[in-house]
Amino acid sequence: MSYVVLARKWRPQTFDDLIGQGHVSRTLGNAIAAGRVAHAFLFTGVRGVGKTTSARILAKALNCAKGPTASPCLECSQCREIGEGSDLDVFEIDGATYTGIDKVRELQETLPYRPSRDRYKIFIVDEVHMLSQAAWNAFLKTLEEPPPHVKFIFATTEAHKVPITILSRCQRYDFKLIGTNDIAARLRHVLEVEKVTADEAAIRIVAREAAGSMRDAMSLLDQVIAWAGEETLTGDAVARVLGVAERSVLHRLGAALVDGDAATCLSVVGELAEQGFSLTHVARDFLQHLRDLVAAKVGGDPSQLDLADTELADVRALASRAALDDLSRIYLGFSRAFDDVARSAQPRSAFEMALVRLSHRPPLVAVDELLARIAELEKRLSAEPHGPPETSGPKGEAGYDPAATPKATPPNAGPPVTFKPTTKAPPVRATGPLTTLPVAERHAPAPLSVPLRESTEPASTASSETAKARDVATPESIASMRAWRSVLDGLAHEKPLVASALEHGELRVFEVGRIVLGYDPDSFPLAQLTEAGLLDAGQLATATLGAPTTLFIETTARATKGQTAAESRNLERQRQLDEAKVRVTNHPIVGAAMELLRAELREVRLIENT
Ligand SMILES: [Zn+2]
Repeated sequence: MSYVVLARKWRPQTFDDLIGQGHVSRTLGNAIAAGRVAHAFLFTGVRGVGKTTSARILAKALNCAKGPTASPCLECSQCREIGEGSDLDVFEIDGATYTGIDKVRELQETLPYRPSRDRYKIFIVDEVHMLSQAAWNAFLKTLEEPPPHVKFIFATTEAHKVPITILSRCQRYDFKLIGTNDIAARLRHVLEVEKVTADEAAIRIVAREAAGSMRDAMSLLDQVIAWAGEETLTGDAVARVLGVAERSVLHRLGAALVDGDAATCLSVVGELAEQGFSLTHVARDFLQHLRDLVAAKVGGDPSQLDLADTELADVRALASRAALDDLSRIYLGFSRAFDDVARSAQPRSAFEMALVRLSHRPPLVAVDELLARIAELEKRLSAEPHGPPETSGPKGEAGYDPAATPKATPPNAGPPVTFKPTTKAPPVRATGPLTTLPVAERHAPAPLSVPLRESTEPASTASSETAKARDVATPESIASMRAWRSVLDGLAHEKPLVASALEHGELRVFEVGRIVLGYDPDSFPLAQLTEAGLLDAGQLATATLGAPTTLFIETTARATKGQTAAESRNLERQRQLDEAKVRVTNHPIVGAAMELLRAELREVRLIENT
């Protein structure tokens, strides 16, 4: 007794039998009925979707004794012989093997002759993209001036490899993958006729595993029937035979992932691994399952999902538990991880790590919702009479001095004020007694004349009584530092290197006629100072203070270290930054935004406007 495999036994004989390619059979049927049949056809699509089968049906339709007809009789000699592959006028050629020069010559010689019996001489060329150049040329010559009695039906899985000269002369039909539901329906019919009992889960698994190919579906069915013998085919058994996970397992895994339950994800994978499932295969099915979740969430045509009704309900229920953005993020994340799983020598670990990572994805905040809430917040704040908390009180010009720093925050505290060198004193403002008056204003009436050339010599004889006064940051010393820094700011434009070197000198004396800077004798900034630079600084100081002033350099140590302009600048910047941080942190909009975004304040920067 010979067993005919299901794929052959159930091969469609007419366009009506052709499953899942309705667009192809309808167009071809209409063309035949209208008597407008092309000379050459190109059938493209992945393997197992019915290209060669359709070519044979078309050959029968064209050559049937009762035709040409969209519904060949299947009884005449032509129909039967074409079905068996023995019709003398229908040539089935395998492109992959049809390369020899002799065969091509034979073809060329055959073409001009009329068919021996049939209406048309028909050439069905499978895997046409594999043809040799010589064979192409032979076909092309005929295609350019086709004899009325010749028809070509080319089939290929790779249409892009077919020369454009051939493509342009063919009527092209694209065969689609066959839907799982269509395959399942066909399987149900076949099983019924073959008298094999099977539950719905078994049919769904076979249909899904066929991945759009009816031929594969029939082969898989052969395989599971052979395994089950006389027994009923169950989903569980079929899943085992084919090494694929049942839908319910994929669903459990998907639910755990959506819920961020990494532990359950791992235990499901563990079970599958113990039962000997191919985890690469499971991962592929799972990716498809995640895709179904996204598609279900988007809604639209349920046929896009290609699921059985019960599965569709499950997928929709799970999809409703998560936001679309979250689902698509899971899908994208897993599709990237899938390549790792497929390539890895340890697919289980790769699979598990992907699931753990995706389980712990950070929560999503819907941007539009967030924006709406921020807008609402802004509206509320602008409606209130007072904005961010402000403070009253004196402006903290002397803020870098801890003792003098007012607790209050100046409303417009910004970057350091830059004093342009003028003949007048810088507008140093401070609260307090008379001693805080601008230095130059105080001393202007008593100009001292100090030769500028002395400025290049280290002034090791600076008076110690003046030095004592600088040990504590008095309001006067604060004002002095401000004035000194304004001199340096003026110098920085012209002589940046000199200004920088002077910035690192400890300000020991600052008064009309005399500025004394202290340096470590080995210090780099000291080495940087030049006579010309010191002269420039002296001139600038003279202009700023309104009286001839000389710069002296001391290299002797002092008991108490004073402050350099650079230190003063850094301290002031730090103070401003600290203030800015407090202001930013206390700002109601910032606080609300941090709350909404679950964010933290990482950094506050001052805008430099020097
Ligand atoms: Zn017939």
